[in-house]
Amino acid sequence: MARFEPAALPELLPVFYRRLFPHGPYGRWLSYGGVAKNYFQLREFSFTLRDDVYLRFQSFGSPQELERELQKINPYKIDIGAVYSHRPNQHNTVHLGAFQPQEKELVFDIDMTDYDDVRTCCSSADICSKCWTLMTIAVRIIDRALVEDLGVRHRLWVYSGRRGVHCWVCDDAVRKWSPALRAAAVEYLSLVKGSADTVKKVTLSHPVHPFIRRSVAVVEKYFEEFALLGQDILGSPEKWAKVLALLPEAAGAAAGRVPAEEGLAAALGAAACPRRAGAGAGPGGLARVGGDAAALLPSPRRQRQQRPRPPAQEPLQRAPQNRWDPRQKPGNLRNTETGQDKRRRISVPLDLQRLDQFDPFAVPTISSLCQELDAAGSDGEQEDGAETEPKRRTRDYRRTSLAPYVRLFERFVEGLESARRGERIRRSDLQGDF
Ligand SMILES: [Zn+2]
Repeated sequence: MARFEPAALPELLPVFYRRLFPHGPYGRWLSYGGVAKNYFQLREFSFTLRDDVYLRFQSFGSPQELERELQKINPYKIDIGAVYSHRPNQHNTVHLGAFQPQEKELVFDIDMTDYDDVRTCCSSADICSKCWTLMTIAVRIIDRALVEDLGVRHRLWVYSGRRGVHCWVCDDAVRKWSPALRAAAVEYLSLVKGSADTVKKVTLSHPVHPFIRRSVAVVEKYFEEFALLGQDILGSPEKWAKVLALLPEAAGAAAGRVPAEEGLAAALGAAACPRRAGAGAGPGGLARVGGDAAALLPSPRRQRQQRPRPPAQEPLQRAPQNRWDPRQKPGNLRNTETGQDKRRRISVPLDLQRLDQFDPFAVPTISSLCQELDAAGSDGEQEDGAETEPKRRTRDYRRTSLAPYVRLFERFVEGLESARRGERIRRSDLQGDF
């Protein structure tokens, strides 16, 4: 794949916005069916241009007007802001205090740098296929909770193009949520507390909340592969100490009184050793249910001894808990979709049905896409002459590896649209009954 050359952006971005950017579904998404008056017109966009020039409070009369502007200024990055009480580009003409954000998607931002204390393969901005599993787990935990616990339906999960993922929750009701409701949702999903210096960031109370139990069930599927093998969390005495520090006090103290090796075995139980897990666990045993992922769960006997203390599930949850920027006010800006900045791949939607197969390194860069367009050749160019501009663009992205991602995005928009149709039919049926 062509390496991404930031210096080439001024040349590549016009091609990107003219031939590749999915203007059609983008406009359909943000219009939300055009049901609410001026919904699109009241939306704030902001653009980051060359040399970090930042333009806020941009707004447009229609998706077509936005498209023309994008093709004119070719922004490095697009941020989607809130829907305001007045047109954002006229905010200076409104008297002070009247200009207020009204609605906004609920956006979660999960960044790999937040997991530096539970990954050993990389740090800071780096990611690899091993630690990417953390993102997969975080997406699965949050998505399950959004759907099953909070009743959310329309989630647009996107790979940011760098080292994280975003989730845009787009349900009509959720976009209207107050800051207090947003904060409550984030609080519900938050388990990890404390700063980088806090050793034990998760403290559970008994009985364990169903959200946590279900999240652990998600984690268990990945635990052996990610933590025991990938991160090798039991690979050395130093690493044992880190794990032991996460255990509830009683287990930790017991382990501390004996030599490290025995202490670890005592604290983790026999199932902790992957080699022995298969042999040691009967068909009905704990280890069978959770596989080796149950290694850090207490053995049934140990659990009885500790009651009513919280069960030792903390280490399991410490690993891949979701963390994000809690600034969930509707006025906040978040970028999404195929926006560009300096060092990134294209930001693309995630297919939750094939999440385990997602490879961030296979996502195209703007350079690779433009090369693909070149390689697809000028064979299409001549026929294009007579065609309308939007039609030609459709075919352009279809000739690149962006195609499956645009298809996913279209599927998401179609989901919104068919839900709206269903709602209209339901309402007219209801009226017909009376
Ligand atoms: Zn890594």
